[in-house]
Amino acid sequence: MTALPKIILQAAEKHYSSPQGEDVVALAPVTLEIASGEFVCLVGPSGCGKTTLINLMAGFEKTSSGTVTIDGRAVTGTDPDHIMIFQEYGLYPWRTVLGNVLFALEAKGLKGKEAVEKAREYVDLVGLTKSIDSFPHQLSGGMKQRVAIARALAVEPSVIFLDEPFGALDAFTRMYLQDELLRLWQEKRPTVVFVTHDLDEAVYLGGRVVLMAPGPGRVQRVINIPLPWPRERTGESIDKYRRELFEEFHLVHQQAAGEAEYII
Ligand code: ADP
Ligand code: MG
Repeated sequence: MTALPKIILQAAEKHYSSPQGEDVVALAPVTLEIASGEFVCLVGPSGCGKTTLINLMAGFEKTSSGTVTIDGRAVTGTDPDHIMIFQEYGLYPWRTVLGNVLFALEAKGLKGKEAVEKAREYVDLVGLTKSIDSFPHQLSGGMKQRVAIARALAVEPSVIFLDEPFGALDAFTRMYLQDELLRLWQEKRPTVVFVTHDLDEAVYLGGRVVLMAPGPGRVQRVINIPLPWPRERTGESIDKYRRELFEEFHLVHQQAAGEAEYII
């Protein structure tokens, strides 16, 4: 017997009304299954519906038609077991590193010594022990994102959604945090849905890569990357998948270039 997929999208689509009252298709129907413990990357150029798709799964938006279910239940709103990590960190500036992680645990009902111990454990896990009493403004962008990751992991969610989490960071910090995230994922094995516009990042991280295309936002192709982790960033094995993805992306790009409303 195969296990039920963790996340199931059944012809999930999203329309908006433009200020002129016209119907805008942000996301054409998407049908996709994500298994428990998978690491899936959604990749594509801006405007192809990545944020819309992840927001439908995280319960920030409702489908216009079709369904999204997690653990067999329809997603009707946000869920403390399904955590989102954003590019802008979303830390409380008036709370220390420990205080920020503690906040998430307190929100989940954990109190006192037990909560503090757990918060410390996760601050240690992301390598911020020495900065535990620092405030967000005293930290670099990479450190702030590590706090956000610690805060998300501390509540031990079964699903972690990340929307371009490393987009604001320099290339070295990004590579470092990619490896950190992979290490933590392998340790705790939540289901991860990771949005990026960076094809290299998607190939390096994802067990599967969902390539999306704009005009209207849709899934173009799903590519399996059956390479074990940790992976080499360069080399024959990963380059094969990188080439496959870049070639497919090139097709998307050519189609998109012919559409007047699509501007990178
Ligand atoms: P991505 O994250 O890939 O850049 P988005 O999901 O943000 O793409 O957007 C997909 C499309 O939906 C875009 O054309 C965008 O303009 C449109 N869109 C997104 N949110 C809204 C909204 N709240 N109202 C109207 N249109 C929207
Ligand atoms: Mg987006």
